[in-house]
Amino acid sequence: MRVTPAIALGQWITERADRAPQRKALSFEDATWTYAEFVDHIDRLAAVLRQGGVARGDRVGFLAFNHPLFLVTLFAASRLGAIFVPLNFRLTGPELEFIINDAGVHSLIVGPDHQAVIGPVRPALRCQRYYGFGGKDGRNGAEAWPDLAGFMAECQPLRDAAELAEDDVAALMYTSGTTGHPKGSMMTVGNIWWNMVSELVTVDISSNDVLLTYAPLFHVGGLNVLTLSCLLKGVHVVLHPAFDPARVIADVPRHGVSLMFAVPAMLLFISQHPDFERADMSTVRSIMVGGAPCPETLLRLFNERGIAVNQGYGLTETAAMASFLTPEWCWDKMGSVGKPPILTRMRLIDADGKVITAPHVKGEVCVRGMNVTLGYWNRPDATRDAIDPDGWFRTGDIGYVDEDGFYTICDRVKDMVISGGENVYPAEVESVLYEHPAIAEVAVIGQPDETWGEKVVAVVALKPGARLDLEALQAFAGSRLARYKVPRQLRIVPGLPRNPTGKVLKYRLREQVELALPE
Ligand code: AMP
Repeated sequence: MRVTPAIALGQWITERADRAPQRKALSFEDATWTYAEFVDHIDRLAAVLRQGGVARGDRVGFLAFNHPLFLVTLFAASRLGAIFVPLNFRLTGPELEFIINDAGVHSLIVGPDHQAVIGPVRPALRCQRYYGFGGKDGRNGAEAWPDLAGFMAECQPLRDAAELAEDDVAALMYTSGTTGHPKGSMMTVGNIWWNMVSELVTVDISSNDVLLTYAPLFHVGGLNVLTLSCLLKGVHVVLHPAFDPARVIADVPRHGVSLMFAVPAMLLFISQHPDFERADMSTVRSIMVGGAPCPETLLRLFNERGIAVNQGYGLTETAAMASFLTPEWCWDKMGSVGKPPILTRMRLIDADGKVITAPHVKGEVCVRGMNVTLGYWNRPDATRDAIDPDGWFRTGDIGYVDEDGFYTICDRVKDMVISGGENVYPAEVESVLYEHPAIAEVAVIGQPDETWGEKVVAVVALKPGARLDLEALQAFAGSRLARYKVPRQLRIVPGLPRNPTGKVLKYRLREQVELALPE
């Protein structure tokens, strides 16, 4: 493999800053960094991590709400040839413990709101170094969380970047797993570069744009959709700690925001905010929407305000975008997710793995290209199941293609619920609910929901004489699972419908719950 240092994150961000050091790079709360200041933070954190023993290939974890230090850590880890592990800030302590140990995190950086989440599981973690940031004096115990800012202020900045090849892993992006545990999708240096190039080719991005990022950076949507490509282009990025529609509406005119990424539920919340009608959105040129199908009414609503909507389809494993529907096709190809970007390929296969060539015939969507993950961290079996020897990645989504080459996603083969843009794997929720003393059998399914797209529903058969209500179920699940995975509806049934081999017939449960049919 040829060494191509210029495409490593730790390299290009420095070259970007050298070209226009005084451009605005990042705004967060009331502070704004220029590109030179941004890179100075990267130089310093790289030095601190190296001093703490991080070497090439080691994993560096980050847990906090969106914060400039997230991006600083991503680039600093790359400088050392280390692998960045962003952690979902909605997870509970035990969920985080699994991921941190599965990834074998060497150094863990934790923000002020999450030190209490990690505290109870810390004895079970195998990290070598811990750093905290942002806590008020004494709030988190200086000894337990050595202060990152102090180390960064004192260190000798480090400017060199490790030489990395395209297939070197830049980040482990954990996605919920079908087997009850999340898997780390290995996102390479090449995946990130290719996705940025695809976006810069497909989406109209200029260096005078201002991007507002409020989607969680730990997810491929928040990080890879626009944020990194905008930094490569020298755009001013405004970062919010988390999604808050009131704040979005206030910050658009304040910073002259021209680009945004949203999942459909976020667009819905922005449009339902009482200030939306009066809001000045005149600077917003384009919004990228993805993660779930976008309802036509939302597209029209934003279009009437003069905002072009690019729709995208993709997965963590395709880092991120696998196809785009650009605004000029928005009405003619309503409901479609468009075409793959240049040099990325998509195809459909039937249940026997045979390639479907005819238009309008449904099959499983497969993707091949430089954006496709290397596989799952330490999970060769899962990797083999997902990627065939020719490099075709099976998405687990069902779709079809029309005569003009536009794809539509219509269903999922994989047993997954998408609620407000977050993926919930029923197997993970079921394995937790099975620990409840009242539950004999449980199946978790998704049901349509106007606000969240889908909601999580638990269908339960109780043990003889046992009782359970939704509140008790939620209290039980809430201490073990992130809130977005906790069922919002409980349905009690005498027994689960199963096929002759014992497999739960989820389609039948879905019908029963949707139509409120008797069991
Ligand atoms: P994630 O790995 O969290 O990015 O989730 C990927 C999944 O989100 C895909 O496999 C699809 O099921 C779903 N998805 C993403 N984008 C779209 C879209 N535009 N339309 C329909 N489903 C989508």
